[in-house]
Amino acid sequence: MSPGVRRFDVAVVGGGSAGLAAAITAARSGARTLLIERHGFTGGMGTASLVHSFCGLYLLRDEPGAVLANPGFSAEIAERMIAATGIGPLRVGRVDVLPQHPVDFVRIADEMIAAEPTLELMLHAEASAVERDAEGWLLKIASRSGAVEIFASTLVDASGDAMVAAWLGEGFTMAAATQLQRPAYVFGVHNPSVMGDAMRLRTSGLLVEGVRSGIIPSTALGLSFRESGRLGEIFGTIDLTGGDTAGDFDPLDPVCLGKLEVEGRRIAATTVEWLAGRDDTWKGSYISHWPVRAGIRESRRWLGEAVLTGADVLAGKRFEDEIALATWPMEFRENAKGPKLRFPENNRPCGIPAGCLKPRGMDRLFVGGRCISADHDAQASIRVMGTCFATGEAAGKMAVDALG
Ligand SMILES: Cc1cc2nc3c(=O)[nH]c(=O)nc-3n(C[C@H](O)[C@H](O)[C@H](O)COP(=O)(O)OP(=O)(O)OC[C@H]3O[C@@H](n4cnc5c(N)ncnc54)[C@H](O)[C@@H]3O)c2cc1C
Repeated sequence: MSPGVRRFDVAVVGGGSAGLAAAITAARSGARTLLIERHGFTGGMGTASLVHSFCGLYLLRDEPGAVLANPGFSAEIAERMIAATGIGPLRVGRVDVLPQHPVDFVRIADEMIAAEPTLELMLHAEASAVERDAEGWLLKIASRSGAVEIFASTLVDASGDAMVAAWLGEGFTMAAATQLQRPAYVFGVHNPSVMGDAMRLRTSGLLVEGVRSGIIPSTALGLSFRESGRLGEIFGTIDLTGGDTAGDFDPLDPVCLGKLEVEGRRIAATTVEWLAGRDDTWKGSYISHWPVRAGIRESRRWLGEAVLTGADVLAGKRFEDEIALATWPMEFRENAKGPKLRFPENNRPCGIPAGCLKPRGMDRLFVGGRCISADHDAQASIRVMGTCFATGEAAGKMAVDALG
């Protein structure tokens, strides 16, 4: 290692919900922490992909009233979000979700990061390789000033895609292309009307009419619109197949990702144009913003000392060394025809054992977020942001504890 290499106690790859929680938690203990994010803001899918609800923050209950599942970072961010938007948890069937606005999420994250003197944030920086030595990790980062190297005693992989495992060439698994949860495209729309139930129903009819007349693609039938909480703004979400056939989807392949982005924009643009020209409630509507990137629900998963399974989630299994509770039902989106939910017995929350955050056979390395060690079915529960905050926070604590 060259003498000029800067040294940190903890480095966190990826500033999504998990990475943000991990970095802030590590820094709050006084550790010199580096957070590396390839975009110009943190928040991951919750900002760059415009995913606009925090799920998994609350316990599943038949009774009304939202009860937080995990104390700590998840509870703190929920409180900050409610203060920013003025909107509390909403009951949808048996679950409570917290609507969140990506613009507020970015600002909240900026403020939380700025409050930590031992936390350094690198934006527009993409970690690209790691080397291991006896004391820790040498990380290579691609930046506008060229390649940068830093040393960290402990490392947290919060990249969503288990990038550290990919660089090491081992320790991960991934579902077959036909089984992977489908990607989706979320976009912002300026719409002068208030989106009520009547308009929603009318919109469904218009989409069917547009598809039947061959003006809009059939994929538009799966489009859902939801108010953003701000006057005149709604979000549209389209589930995509990911390729010409289900087997073509590869969430890690840049060519496949390129096609997804273009396809998402094409469907969104044709559909909003059709609606705006067809109906008074849509008159004057236009696409106000694209996401930075299409939403990816599942890719690589780490193989950890423990592997959470779908059976664990269904049974609401608890573990002595659990670090957080997973409360979201398993939400399968293995095709672009909408979600299939599987709820745990008696609404029981499932513990996430510490071993799911510890890659097998590797010390000084921890993982948080949607790529923790879980099988495909359990990932369908633990990938939601409420749970990612909690696993990220735990990974940050474990990274600090491993400093000794
Ligand atoms: C369409 C869609 C709808 C969803 N709906 C909901 C919902 O309603 N509620 C909910 O709670 N969850 C929802 N989810 C799931 C949830 O948004 C994600 O699973 C969750 O945000 C994942 O968080 P994460 O921190 O693990 O990963 P990500 O949010 O993917 O964050 C990873 C971060 O790491 C960065 N990164 C990756 N590699 C590098 C690198 N090498 N160097 C630097 N930076 C890097 C990325 O830019 C990104 O910011 C949805 C997901 C999708 C796709």
